[in-house]
This record gives sequence, C-alpha cells and structure tokens, in this order.
Amino acid sequence: MVLILSFDFEEIDKVFISHFHADHSCDAFSLIFSRNCNYTPYKKKLKKVLMMGPKNTEKNFKTWRKIFWPEPHESYPVDFREGVGEVRLGSIKVETFLIKHLPWLQSLGIIVKFGGKKLVYTGDLGSDNKLEDLVEKCQGADLLVIEASVAKPQSNHFTLQQVKELAEKALAKKVLIVHIPSPVIKITEDFCRKEPKFILAHDGLRVEI
Ligand SMILES: [Zn+2]
Ligand SMILES: [Zn+2]
Repeated sequence: MVLILSFDFEEIDKVFISHFHADHSCDAFSLIFSRNCNYTPYKKKLKKVLMMGPKNTEKNFKTWRKIFWPEPHESYPVDFREGVGEVRLGSIKVETFLIKHLPWLQSLGIIVKFGGKKLVYTGDLGSDNKLEDLVEKCQGADLLVIEASVAKPQSNHFTLQQVKELAEKALAKKVLIVHIPSPVIKITEDFCRKEPKFILAHDGLRVEI
C-alpha cells in the first residue's frame, strides 16, 4: 500500500471527511465541483464519488452547494455514507469510529485494511479520548496518520508526547504526523529526525507500507 500526499484529482472516487472544520472538509466538496466542470461539458462518463463522513455530511454538501454551486439543473453522482460503520470497497475494508474532538460536532477516525496492511487515520483528537480505546483502534497499524498540533495536552488536539505514547502502546510500525501549525514545526522536525519511525508529512510525500 502506498500513501501519496499528492494525486491526480480525477483518479479519486472515494473520499473520507473526519469532521467539519474547514481544514478537513472544504476541498472534498470542491472536488465534486471540479469534477462537474471537467466532465460534464465534455460528455465524459461521470465517475461516481463515495463520500464517507460524520453525520450531516450530505446535508452540509447541500448547504455548500447553495452557496458555491447554485445551478439547480446541474448535478454530479455522489453516494454518501455517514457515521460509524464498516464498508467493503472491493478488496479494501474500511471501518470508521468515533473520535472525541469537540462536543458540538461528530468526528470520525478511519481504519483501512488492504493486502494484509492496516492504515489508521485519527483526524483531530484530544485528551478527552480514552487512551485504551485509541490503542485498540490503532493496534498494530502499519501506518498511523495522526496530528500533533499543540505543545501542551488539550481536550481537542494532541501533542507529540501523546502521539509517541499512543504509537508505542499500539505498536504502530510507522507514524505519519500531519496537521502541524507553524509554532510546533521545529520541535516536530527535530523529533522526527531522532525517531526514525515518525515521519513529518509534506506535499508530494510517498509512504510505502
Ligand atoms: Zn478540527
Ligand atoms: Zn484540524
């Protein structure tokens, strides 16, 4: 399995949204609009998109459409799957699970299993999550994709130390750290230089597992 942090958007037909903060969701809706612009006028076969996300994903898409894509006669085929569940996509098994991020929105993590490999993405998460629950979900992950965006523990975001503790307890083989605001870039870079299984994400990165 290869995770690539850059891709041809026309290849994408499955999208996962962890929660409805702009940094985790806006591009997903724009993807559908770009598809419409690229495909419809040229009579290309429309590739249906599966959009998985927390509750209200479809409702939020419809609200977004009213503002950014108001043409009532246009449409693009999208299937929505909301909340916690399991789905098989060919040979890929996908499971979503609840994550505590903020009390006023539902947040999900995702486990992707393919070819004997396991990838876990937590989305944004904080100290309100029980460590043992996270350890269970992340257990034996070949790749754990996780945020470490704060310097001190908070209810809605994780620190590097918390990521390290979780990765050690869950025996994660590789950890890709994403979602790094500028005040913590330097400490994250220094940390990843010393700890070979931790990788700092950047555009265009390929991670093979
Ligand atoms: Zn968030
Ligand atoms: Zn975020």
